[in-house]
Amino acid sequence: ENQELPKSEHFRYLESIITTAEEIDVNVVHRIKAGWLKWRCASGVKLWCDCPFWPEDGMCRLRDCSVCECPETEFPEIFKKPPRGLPSDDLVCQEGKPQATVDRTLDSKAFRGWMEVDNPWTNDDETDNSEMTYVNLQLNPERYTGYAGPSARRIWDAVYSENCPKYSSGEICQEKKVLYKLISGLHSSISIHIAADYLLDESTNLWGKNLELMHDRVLRYPDRVRNLYFTFLFVLRAVTKAADYLEQAEYDTGNHAEDLKAQSMMRQLLYNPKLQAACPLPFDEAKLWQGQSEPELKQQIQKQFRNISALMDCVGCEKCRLWGKLQVLGLGTALKILFSVNDQNYPDQILHLQRNEVIALVNLLNRLSESVKLVNEMGSSTENIMGGL
Ligand code: FAD
Repeated sequence: ENQELPKSEHFRYLESIITTAEEIDVNVVHRIKAGWLKWRCASGVKLWCDCPFWPEDGMCRLRDCSVCECPETEFPEIFKKPPRGLPSDDLVCQEGKPQATVDRTLDSKAFRGWMEVDNPWTNDDETDNSEMTYVNLQLNPERYTGYAGPSARRIWDAVYSENCPKYSSGEICQEKKVLYKLISGLHSSISIHIAADYLLDESTNLWGKNLELMHDRVLRYPDRVRNLYFTFLFVLRAVTKAADYLEQAEYDTGNHAEDLKAQSMMRQLLYNPKLQAACPLPFDEAKLWQGQSEPELKQQIQKQFRNISALMDCVGCEKCRLWGKLQVLGLGTALKILFSVNDQNYPDQILHLQRNEVIALVNLLNRLSESVKLVNEMGSSTENIMGGL
């Protein structure tokens, strides 16, 4: 909230947290990225759903825009098992709720297998379905695709103008600010990744960093950088809050050695002592949703976020859509983790996540932490370059 950024104390404090957070070994998240993503299409289209708002208008210039799906022989057997349904009476309610309006803990024994549970923050129905397919994210990296122009602009315009307008300086509603900052931070991160893996020379197929683009789209706007940091801390908080649950979750693809490694790396990520010492509470969700109009406000913001989630089906470039949907689902999962207590959608106060939600959450943390790292690395070098132009 400090308007004197970027060199205020607040910013320096954040920077120190990020530097420490980076030490949680980005590879941990990379490793989890080898997980598989299962995606559903309500419309019966093989991989993608129809845009609910306007006719498809996407155009991709590069071949790199398309997503390669996994052949069926590569689907992990274990994923084909039907997930369990909603938990019933055998679950006991979380006991001893603290006095605070918002509970800062999650039931550490909450994981009871992957379950089909709805997420009120997202539009996608993630339940298992024959129309879903698998995508190996490592073979489809988020990078420059050439997707731009009116189609891309229309999505971002709709996201900002209809669903999370930039708040005015007099706005006091923290919750509305949070939604804007999360989306803006995600937008910064997408732009950073486009610039970090850019087609520099089409004739020789040379890929590399486009520092000018990074500067023009993100670095020269302190608020965009700030929002990236905010989104990173928000998601980091969600992951650490759900640490016990995430530790117990099944990382099972049928490849025992890889699964064990993934579990161990997940533990390193969740219980990193340096991170805990430097940043015990990256974001304090207990400060939100305390006003009188809390239920209506939450419903309104949930609706806005669901609209943003639905808009991802209108992204006219396959790979951008894949990463857009994945990261918005990751944000929706973070929102679910942080804001589901006292929510009518969770009368038993026990949180359950779906496999896809966990994959999206961890991949989002990876994308954001890499962006923060790139901003730190590039910030000074782009300043030099731009100064020289
Ligand atoms: P845009 O990035 O399209 O921005 C539009 C406007 O939004 C700007 O003019 C500015 O007013 C505002 N804005 C920009 N950044 C921020 C911010 N951080 N906070 C607040 N406001 C901001 N392209 C790829 O090459 N690869 C991808 O993987 C990819 N993924 C995408 C995913 C989604 C969900 C969407 C909607 C688009 C994606 N694109 C991708 C396209 C890319 O985001 C840009 O739209 C495109 O490169 C054109 O950029 P632009 O300069 O017109 O500005």
